[in-house]
Amino acid sequence: MTERLCDGCGAVLQSDDKSKAGYVPESALNNEHIICRRCFRLKHYNEVQDVNYSDDDFLEMIHQISNTKSLVVNIVDIFDFNGSFISGIKRLTGNNPVLLVANKVDLLPKSTNRNRLVHWMKKMAAEQGVKVVDVFLISAAKGIGFDEVEEAMEKYRQGKDIYVVGCTNVGKSTFINQLIQRTSGTNDAITTSYFPGTTLGFIEIPLDDRTSLFDTPGIVNRHQLVHYVSEKDLKLITPKKELKPKVFQLNDQQTLFFGGFCRFDFQKGMKQSIICYFSNQLMIHRTKLEKADDFFQEHVGELLQPPNRETLEKLPELITHTFKIPHEKTDIVIPGLGWFTIAEGGISIAVHAPKGIQISLRPALI
Ligand code: GDP
Repeated sequence: MTERLCDGCGAVLQSDDKSKAGYVPESALNNEHIICRRCFRLKHYNEVQDVNYSDDDFLEMIHQISNTKSLVVNIVDIFDFNGSFISGIKRLTGNNPVLLVANKVDLLPKSTNRNRLVHWMKKMAAEQGVKVVDVFLISAAKGIGFDEVEEAMEKYRQGKDIYVVGCTNVGKSTFINQLIQRTSGTNDAITTSYFPGTTLGFIEIPLDDRTSLFDTPGIVNRHQLVHYVSEKDLKLITPKKELKPKVFQLNDQQTLFFGGFCRFDFQKGMKQSIICYFSNQLMIHRTKLEKADDFFQEHVGELLQPPNRETLEKLPELITHTFKIPHEKTDIVIPGLGWFTIAEGGISIAVHAPKGIQISLRPALI
């Protein structure tokens, strides 16, 4: 069969894999004009569907943004900041300003100190060499924070195009669908066309006569926990509504298991509260530290689940990270899973997490 391209986005058409670019049902392949399912849904239902590319494809595509004069809107998941922040974004997007939009704010407890969260995200971005022009907290699903973010996009784009980038599962499609709904209201306002100079497509959504917003494919970042869990487990570890803290009074030489994904050893220090912020469906078990290794071996995938058996087949082994926590009120963040707060500090701890998942510390948000 000769290769055909989508009239909408320029991706190579194929009927084998729905999750990949250019998918179209086989029955449509004989039509004269063909657009892929993603473009079709955008055009007819104002609905963006994410397709995923390999890291290299993505990087090659995104790199073209560095040749444009535009505003880059980087969507991240508040719950998975380290996993969903694209550390090479500066190199990929050139000198264009980057606006960081942190999604899923609806999951945070109301008492969260938002200033501290924004400050932490700016700091984390700066540590990766990225100076962001501003940070916004939103909920794409609930439509929270859009007035502010739209105003900022207008301000920082200075009449130029906008490129929306983000890792898979951060809510990029939900964000764009929400924007389209708020700004256009009508289906007719949406057209698709492809980004010149690439074979892989960006989806173009006109903002006015001269400028557009481009949706780029979701990047697959191997450090995101989401890539190692089964669909069933992903549902269990993803919180659905505002997090409710669970508090444990812990002595030293005790261990907490967060399902079988992560383990916290309280090695040394004064008894204190450990406040846990995870999906309600992630069971937390307490054991004695000396028994924890055996307990894990015996129960992972069963009593300690999620992960279920399917996830365990691809989940990397747990790696131990040790920390001294000098300060009171410190959060230990496990990207993609949640976090726990050490109430008083002055303790030595170990955290065991899947290899590649980058644990970080921050001043407590609550
Ligand atoms: P994409 O892969 O970045 O395009 O992400 P999607 O838009 O497909 O969303 C990924 C997941 O995050 C889905 O399960 C969404 O329901 C969920 N999600 C998106 N936005 C929000 C939000 O504002 N709050 C919460 N709690 N979940 C969200």
